[in-house]
Amino acid sequence: MNHIKQNIEKIKSIIPAQVKLIAVSKTKPVSDIEEAINAGQYIFGENKVQELVTKAGVIDKKAEWHMIGHLQTNKVKQLLSAVHLIHSVDSFKLAKEIDKEAQKINKMIPCLLQLYIAKEDTKFGFAEDELLAMLQMPEFYQLKNIEIHGLMGIASFTDNKKVIEEEFSKLRKMFERLKKEYFSENNTFKELSMGMSNDFQIAIEQGSTMIRIGSLIFGERYYPAKK
Ligand SMILES: *Cc1c(COP(=O)(O)O)cnc(C)c1O
Repeated sequence: MNHIKQNIEKIKSIIPAQVKLIAVSKTKPVSDIEEAINAGQYIFGENKVQELVTKAGVIDKKAEWHMIGHLQTNKVKQLLSAVHLIHSVDSFKLAKEIDKEAQKINKMIPCLLQLYIAKEDTKFGFAEDELLAMLQMPEFYQLKNIEIHGLMGIASFTDNKKVIEEEFSKLRKMFERLKKEYFSENNTFKELSMGMSNDFQIAIEQGSTMIRIGSLIFGERYYPAKK
């Protein structure tokens, strides 16, 4: 017996109404996602293209699919028909590829730029100077089929609240700076995707508008042991 419905209701009752909840359903079966939908949860996050596309194909069309994991350029084409928001744009090369494939199917793809904020070196994302360099390139503004909706970041995996707070604060400051310097004319630049099961309350205190919650809704994930 799992408690997906209760878990969703509990989280929704403690987060501000304007913060969007992304239910991270990676590795979880369709039946779990349907249970979440029965609880009124329609936004799901996945980190693998194949899994996202397969689930999107069989689940209620009202559901919205967010790509939250590292995206390889050769998988972009497959993803675009199913995805509603890509949280993990982490290079100009990837942005260009998304734009190219989006143009072919005449779609506008909402994207977040992922900034690297953690102390660990296992996480993807732009470094601050890399991101600023891209935003100074005229070529970036020639991409007409992607729409930048904001920033995403993943904090360090630690119990040290202060470290997490500093990382989210840094991300919010960057968001405010970019909004002022590069996106002031752009009403869609308004999302700050930060916060997971272990740190979403800190993220909300620091200005998050989208939290990505997996295990707190669906329970622990089990991965097959690798050989
Ligand atoms: C898996 C994942 C999450 C959800 O993690 P939980 O700790 O289970 O809430 C959020 N964001 C990203 C990018 C993820 O890969």
